[in-house]
Amino acid sequence: MEPTAERESTTLRPAEKQGLLFVLSAPSGTGKDSVIEALKRQGMDFHVVTSVTTRAPRPGESEGHPYHFISYEEFQQLVVNDELIEYANVHGNWYGQPRRQIKENLAAGRDVLLKVDVQGAATIRRKIPQAILIFLAPETQEELAQRLSRRQTENAEQFRRRLADAANELAQYHWYDYLVINREGQLAQAVEQVRAIMIAEHCRVQPRYVEL
Ligand code: 5GP
Repeated sequence: MEPTAERESTTLRPAEKQGLLFVLSAPSGTGKDSVIEALKRQGMDFHVVTSVTTRAPRPGESEGHPYHFISYEEFQQLVVNDELIEYANVHGNWYGQPRRQIKENLAAGRDVLLKVDVQGAATIRRKIPQAILIFLAPETQEELAQRLSRRQTENAEQFRRRLADAANELAQYHWYDYLVINREGQLAQAVEQVRAIMIAEHCRVQPRYVEL
């Protein structure tokens, strides 16, 4: 926008009517959920989209936590009805982001955060260029391997697959808007950086509102 000498109104920033759409990607085991939980504890108000998935719940998981667990047939129906803003096959299971959840929260003025893998983020970038993409990465691949092996939620084959996927994902950070490194033992710093990004995006002269 061109600089102008005069303004039409003295209200510099009218109350925001719409939330912003953030995307957070991280290879499994990088600490995405810990960052999100810490932001919530600090009082950041945003809606984390609950994806639908055809994956079976792991021990300790239940409907809605952390996913809506649905059948393959139900998933197909959502795709046919164009009710998923993005969907992908990750590690052999289908995952998708329900459009209505995103639309309703943005319209209510609430920021929305999508937790998606790299291919999901690529789809969002193509379909919704105004979305703000944040990549959370471990400092080294060795650190990630250690965290994954500590988690012990996968068998040996799944573990190998996730590590290989993680290496491919790490190579993709360069087309994101932001890169945050979650260093071992320094979660607070990563949380502070994501928080700063979210706040700064609201201070843009022209915030990146999305149209869905
Ligand atoms: P997990 O099954 O271990 O919870 O997640 C496996 C991967 O699927 C994670 O990298 C997660 O970010 C990704 N994921 C979860 N929901 C979605 C989604 O709706 N779309 C895409 N593309 N990836 C997702």
